[in-house]
Amino acid sequence: MPATDRQPIRILDSASIDRIAAGEVIERPASVVKELVENALDAGAGSIRVQIREGGISYISIEDDGHGVPFRELPLAFERHATSKIVSAADILHVGSFGFRGEALASIASVSRCTMTSRSAQEDVGGMIRIAGSVNERREPAPRNVGTTVTIEDLFYNTPARRKYLKTPAAERKAVVGVITSIALACPEVRWRLVCDGETVLDLLPADALTERARDLLGSHVVEHMARFSAEEGGIAVGGLASRPTYTRPNRIQQFLYVNRRPVRSPALAQAIALAYREVIPPGRHAAVILFIDVPSGEVDVNVHPAKTEVRLMLERSIFSLVMRALQEGLDLRGRMVPGHAAADGGRTDESDPNRARIHQEDLRRQFSGSASAPEVLQPGGQGSLFSGAGAAASAENGLFSAAQDESQSAAGDDAALRPAPFWQLHRTYILTQIKSGLVLIDQHNSHERVLYNDAQKALAAGSFAIAVQQLLFPVTLELTPQQVQAFQDHSDELGRLGFAVQPFGGQSVIVQGIPSSLKNWNEGQLLLDILDDLAESGTGRNEDSDDLLASYACHGAIRAGARLTVPEMQNLVDKLFATDLPLSCPHGRPTMIEYSLEELERRFGRR
Ligand code: ADP
Ligand code: MG
Repeated sequence: MPATDRQPIRILDSASIDRIAAGEVIERPASVVKELVENALDAGAGSIRVQIREGGISYISIEDDGHGVPFRELPLAFERHATSKIVSAADILHVGSFGFRGEALASIASVSRCTMTSRSAQEDVGGMIRIAGSVNERREPAPRNVGTTVTIEDLFYNTPARRKYLKTPAAERKAVVGVITSIALACPEVRWRLVCDGETVLDLLPADALTERARDLLGSHVVEHMARFSAEEGGIAVGGLASRPTYTRPNRIQQFLYVNRRPVRSPALAQAIALAYREVIPPGRHAAVILFIDVPSGEVDVNVHPAKTEVRLMLERSIFSLVMRALQEGLDLRGRMVPGHAAADGGRTDESDPNRARIHQEDLRRQFSGSASAPEVLQPGGQGSLFSGAGAAASAENGLFSAAQDESQSAAGDDAALRPAPFWQLHRTYILTQIKSGLVLIDQHNSHERVLYNDAQKALAAGSFAIAVQQLLFPVTLELTPQQVQAFQDHSDELGRLGFAVQPFGGQSVIVQGIPSSLKNWNEGQLLLDILDDLAESGTGRNEDSDDLLASYACHGAIRAGARLTVPEMQNLVDKLFATDLPLSCPHGRPTMIEYSLEELERRFGRR
């Protein structure tokens, strides 16, 4: 795909210029990095090294081993509408390179101090050119191997208005890491290095396959859950890697979409992915997907947005159904409900959807079959009486309820029978208990979320280590993605105060030695990864707004629907819930409990 057969740089004719959607492409350091890296790829580079300082605001350098720029063409590269990649506007429809407008270098050089050092394969010595605010300062021979280095200093030094819109160096750096991550996934054959403030953040050796590159960037624990998919129709090929329903994320941060190897944003494609997974993962969760679409170049309109991330696709509909089909076939997603996820969904069933309705029907049949193989479901015709107060142990024996007590507690069943208000767990999701005025159903996840949120809020406000830390017997090392590393660096203080004892452990790894002792759902580290993803997604910077962190911690840390609880655990949870300031709703505003009054029951049973 990179145009390695190099043409000389020419200035486009004015008709061609008019047909190219011109626009400011340079908004922030990440957009500079994107343009320069694309130039390196277009030059056929096999190795690209990116260095930035202060998120790229003070310094960016991109070094490649591509075909270089001949000495006499150096000034031309910085002319507006000068490009070696197309000859006229007619070529735009078939452009195979990343760039073609010939305006990136001109734009960048107009708002920074820029140096290009380059040597082409045909020359013995290289050359360098230095430009500041569009003014050529000098051009002179300079030694270099074949390839190009572009250095950008003091971005927006002469446009203070734009400089003001830059975010913190940490946020700008995060955006740069994001750009390199998404391009590096699409170019596994290229060696990538990213150095931020002297620290090597990425060092990716050339890889033979997408899977290998994905392992480096997403971590092997993610790739383990992924499978290949592909489909082709009418000259359009789609394919890539996607996670099975066993691995989901709370956001789309691990969805990477490409059209003709160009990273794109496309709400419509995101929707096609969501539809493909609709039956197997619950709402609000997202698969990890690396999706490549290859379309004959005449059918993609790359000439839409100056930053070129939003690509307009002709034949949209057929592409979307092809994407859906490829995912559903490759990952075997049709009509299968993953049990854990079905429960996490809260058992919600959309009756209007024939497939959902079918699943629901099967579920019901299983529940009413009277088989003892599913003791957690309520069965009709059991011997025990529902509200006999005979205690959970007796109920469990009758198969009426989830095993609300484990074996050790069954022995104490007689004691439980004497308790006035026992707790039952229904469908491993709800806690049923009697109150004076009737009965309440408590959602175990929502209420635990409230409890954790409350505890964490207090711990952060106290400004000290107020939460009890449970030391792990076997510390866990976690491999982080670059975005997760950034989120960890931004929030390590708060995570510490919440009770996570986490230390950097070389490269992109961290070692977890302790976790908040109130956590039920640590899941061998997945919890921390989910929280870091949420933070990366919300873009909350260092020590900013801790609400995102609290909500994410509470949501991921809370007991899931589907988890079995013992009677003491239920008792403890309900006690803690009522000790919080807002016991009636979870931090997202969903109810924690539903109350049925005696009056309502009497009315509905015709007693009144
Ligand atoms: P475009 O990429 O749209 O052609 P640019 O302003 O980004 O426009 O670059 C102008 C020209 O400079 C390119 O067409 C290419 O010939 C040359 N050039 C820029 N960067 C490099 C590089 N890293 N290696 C070789 N040539 C380059
Ligand atoms: Mg370019």
